[in-house]
Amino acid sequence: MRDLLGGKGANVAEMTRVLGARRVPAGFTITTEACVAYMRRGGTEPEGLDEQVSDALGRLEEEAGKRLGDPNDPVLVSVRSGARESMPGMLDSILNLGLNDRSVEGLARTTGNERFAWDSYRRFLQMFANVCRGVPGEAIEDAIAARKRAAGVEEDTELETADLRALVDDFKRLFSERTGEEFPQDPLEQLRQAIRAVFDSWLGDRAVEYRRINRIPDEWGTAVNVQRMVFGNKGDSSCSGVAFSRDEITGGPEPSGDFLVNAQGEDVVSGVRTPRDLAELREAMPEAHRELMEILRRLESHYRDMQDTEFTVEEGRLYMLQTRSAKRPAQAAVRFAVDAVEEGLVTRQQALLTVDAGALDALLHPTFGRDADYEVLARGVNASPGAAKGEIVFTAESAVAAAEAGRQVVLVRPFTEADDVAGFFAARGIITSEGGKASHAALVARGMGKPAVCGVGELEVDLASGEARVNGTVLHEGDLIALDGTRGVITTEDVPLVDPEMDEAFEKVLGWADEVRTLGVRTNADTPEDALRAREFGAEGIGLCRTEHMFMAADRQPKMRTMIMARTEEARRTALAELLPHQQQDFEGLFEVMAGLPVTIRLLDPPLHEFLPDVEEVAQEVERARIERTPDLEDLERMLERVHEVSETNPMLGTRGCRLGILHPEIYEMQVQAIVRAALAVRERSGAAPHLEIMIPLVAYEMELVYMRKLVERVVADEGGADLELTVGTMIELPRACFVADRIASVADFFSFGTNDLTQTALGFSRDDAERGFLGRYRDERILDRSPFETLDRPGVGWLVRLAAWTGREAKPDLKLGICGEHGGDPESIAFFQLAGLDYVSCSPYRVPIARVAAAQAAARDGE
Ligand code: PEP
Ligand code: MG
Repeated sequence: MRDLLGGKGANVAEMTRVLGARRVPAGFTITTEACVAYMRRGGTEPEGLDEQVSDALGRLEEEAGKRLGDPNDPVLVSVRSGARESMPGMLDSILNLGLNDRSVEGLARTTGNERFAWDSYRRFLQMFANVCRGVPGEAIEDAIAARKRAAGVEEDTELETADLRALVDDFKRLFSERTGEEFPQDPLEQLRQAIRAVFDSWLGDRAVEYRRINRIPDEWGTAVNVQRMVFGNKGDSSCSGVAFSRDEITGGPEPSGDFLVNAQGEDVVSGVRTPRDLAELREAMPEAHRELMEILRRLESHYRDMQDTEFTVEEGRLYMLQTRSAKRPAQAAVRFAVDAVEEGLVTRQQALLTVDAGALDALLHPTFGRDADYEVLARGVNASPGAAKGEIVFTAESAVAAAEAGRQVVLVRPFTEADDVAGFFAARGIITSEGGKASHAALVARGMGKPAVCGVGELEVDLASGEARVNGTVLHEGDLIALDGTRGVITTEDVPLVDPEMDEAFEKVLGWADEVRTLGVRTNADTPEDALRAREFGAEGIGLCRTEHMFMAADRQPKMRTMIMARTEEARRTALAELLPHQQQDFEGLFEVMAGLPVTIRLLDPPLHEFLPDVEEVAQEVERARIERTPDLEDLERMLERVHEVSETNPMLGTRGCRLGILHPEIYEMQVQAIVRAALAVRERSGAAPHLEIMIPLVAYEMELVYMRKLVERVVADEGGADLELTVGTMIELPRACFVADRIASVADFFSFGTNDLTQTALGFSRDDAERGFLGRYRDERILDRSPFETLDRPGVGWLVRLAAWTGREAKPDLKLGICGEHGGDPESIAFFQLAGLDYVSCSPYRVPIARVAAAQAAARDGE
């Protein structure tokens, strides 16, 4: 009942059922619905709340056998927040509620511990003043410091009863000075104000910001848990602590945690005193330790997951205050999954569901050390995960040169383009001041598994002067820079890096994922190296080979340019003939790695001008050649003219994809020739060729596909490839294609959703600019909670995907359906593709393991 009771409330209630009422202090939960009603009424308690609270309180008092505020023997309560999802430290809590000038004496008498009673009272006053009435923490700390000075002591714990009594007076005075009211002595009034304060904390700045970052909806509200206090600070047979049912860092079988003798819970977490390792509890309180160990096992087997608990021992008696699933690093998640299955605690499927698929990235890339302490220089988009560090270089050429000289470098650019790809290979990581998750830098970096932080708004890269500036710091080539692409931060500090391990346990979990999942997992790869890596990670084929990348290498680009510069078909064909062997060689490499598996090859997609130099640059060169009267003037002028000719106002909506193939069929012909020749050559050499899937990009009309299909079939026949396993299909990346998917399906063997372009065209958001532009503001204003380029926009773009899948299969029941946009590696989007009935997802090599686990989770949940 987590939605209604919040995580804490639901867990405490359930834990009480599992462990029995004696183990868990009595209490009640005010629902999240009450908080929502309170917010709706503009901060007024909903009707009936008061009566229900006093009812529940009556039962709590009955169970405790004591009354709140009883001057002789009072029960005290804690009032804690508890949202559906944990928001650690963001919402308010109040402890020791129910103390006043009279009940404090009663508490002193019944516990025989005057100091404890007054210490509890002053703690309550402190929290109440701060949390319920906004008395600033500094004013409170000042009062404590003054009191310590007066008593001549250093530590809070050295204050004697008389000092604590005096401190209570100080706080009461402070309270009335700051609020203009007396501190409320009536426990019911204290409770009312505390409940209100917890509700209000839901709308506090801290909480709002936390929710924004963690994508928790504002509408949920928090529950309020009122629970009888037990005391870990009643002397040496009492303690408070936190305990994980297994090692919280490694996931190993030994429970871990911290505790403090003679202390309350917040002392353990606040860091005021250094807590002791849980293992030492065995010596300090053997009986409580034994019980705790047994309880941890019981909770684990009940919840079938690793638990994170809070406990208190009050005069030798162990109480459990809270339990929840433990947050854990990827390493521990994998270890737990494997051990839990071996111990018979969970099934493989259940074990898979305990793993956070997205977090597995950490096991595939180096990361900043867990305890790394460094100052963030600037933040940007977390474009490609992992961490890296090295000397700054500003150009791909210097990256290559430095790497050849054995130096580790980080490529820092305003943005990157095709020419920079060699620099990516050479660099450890990439930083750009522009671009988002779908920018060239991000795509290429993710494909290669290089960490990248993009769109660092505060970074100004001045290539002309060879320096970069960030908030007043000037960086030069050769300066050290480190980046964490998982978090999207950069720093100039020499942060230690930790290497990833793909260990046996991880392999095992991936194996189970393969048993459970129904979605296929392929990879987006354009080189044999990427393809091989993806195979090692478990890819079952290539879902997208972007052939344009093959023309960007240094030895191809000039030929590609000649081809584009050519004015006649004949000249173009001559240039293409030179490109053909290169293209064939590239395919052979890929096909060898993927023999026997499906390989989807997309024919040339981007607008031609992407292969030409920048207009400005050529114009400057022409100018120079004119002044210096150099002999290449004519060539340069021709180039400038051609660049002008092919450049478009909206290239992303321009002559690209199949439009290019229709305009210049000879380009696609050459590509198909290369594919067929490579497949035949590989089959000849190794006896097996891949299953070829030739994919036509950016199709909007079925006639485009009819045209292209004819071309492909003709060339395949001409090249003697008729007996190859070869199908022809299309990318679905335009809204129109989704609307007329049945027509397109009638001429396609498969669809592959290009959700990058589909998102761009459905939303009218530029995939290159939106993330570093207005999307940040959209998130701040809560119009969106995440980038639609990262997680598929289910109601909008997702609807188009569903529509196309449905109508496409209606026209052709055996139509194969895949997705090769970046969403193919995003766990949440993968869950959607499962529901939409796709056959496979395709993602960059490093995301393949994540996709395998996410697909298994999606299948498991779908099955449920
Ligand atoms: C897409 O648009 O989703 C896609 C996979 O193609 P590209 O990113 O190359 O445009
Ligand atoms: Mg596309």
